[in-house]
Amino acid sequence: ARDDARNTWRFFNSEMQTLVESRARIEAGLHEALEQDHLNLFFQSQFDARGRLTGAEGLIRWNRPGEGRIPPDQFIPLAEETGLILPIGSWVLDTACQCLKTWSTNPRTQGLHLSINVSARQFHQPRFIDLLLEALDQYQISPGRLSLELTESVVLNDLSQTEQRMLAVRDLGIGLALDDFGTGFSSLSYLKHLPFDTLKIDRSFVSDMIATASSAAIIRATIAMGHALGLTVIAEGVETQEEWALLKDFGCDAFQGFLFARPVSNEEWKPTDFSVKQA
Ligand code: C2E
Ligand code: CA
Ligand code: CA
Ligand code: CA
Repeated sequence: ARDDARNTWRFFNSEMQTLVESRARIEAGLHEALEQDHLNLFFQSQFDARGRLTGAEGLIRWNRPGEGRIPPDQFIPLAEETGLILPIGSWVLDTACQCLKTWSTNPRTQGLHLSINVSARQFHQPRFIDLLLEALDQYQISPGRLSLELTESVVLNDLSQTEQRMLAVRDLGIGLALDDFGTGFSSLSYLKHLPFDTLKIDRSFVSDMIATASSAAIIRATIAMGHALGLTVIAEGVETQEEWALLKDFGCDAFQGFLFARPVSNEEWKPTDFSVKQA
């Protein structure tokens, strides 16, 4: 038994070692990515109930030389822990505003919205509002075209500071969306207290709304409640015609998902409406 324990310990130890090494490697790699321009902002189009393009969500990608494209779930959490999310988040904001400026010069794209994901640490950094002001000023974009997607983790930090910050963002004219709605525990009270203008229904509800009556019921109720509170409701992760049809039936305002478009690079992204023929 003693041998077993020793082996277990040794095994555990080497697992830990690997974990520590891979974290250090990712951290060093992220520094390099920022310096050498290996980050990329992808765009996933969003549509209204008639399939007309309304805008896009910006989603970060990391092109790691020799290792291909690393998805955000594999580095954003570590970036948040280490604080690297601050320069990364500033890069995302800058890239998004640059893109909105380009969009503003073309009649086909000038009315589109762009939303970006903002992490808790980024939102609560003291200079956050200044960074927004600087970006708006540098690119001379209309603030109403930009939205920030926040998750509950942003609010969890400090409700009153979150509220102050959100009011300041709203005063700038920038939109605020509550992302991943329904996955946390207190979303309802946040909606009551905080100045969100958009509610984003989490993909997990959408993906089983056809098979599971309770998910469909939750979505239907969420849309009704969102509208009663004056919010725009968007569904993410829409993958099938059936899901889209039911969401439209429930009165959902906007839609995003693989049915319509996958996230693609700025170069590949095209401002095109969705027609059923494409599906
Ligand atoms: P999220 O904000 O909930 O983004 C939606 C995720 O769902 C994206 O994954 C998107 O590619 C994926 N998705 C979209 N439509 C569909 C669909 O129809 N089916 C399926 N199965 N998936 C779909 P992605 O790009 O890997 O991003 C994962 C998460 O990483 C995001 O979740 C967000 O929390 C975070 N993230 C991405 N970009 C940024 C960023 O610039 N800053 C921060 N702080 N977080 C980011
Ligand atoms: Ca999002
Ligand atoms: Ca989401
Ligand atoms: Ca999510």
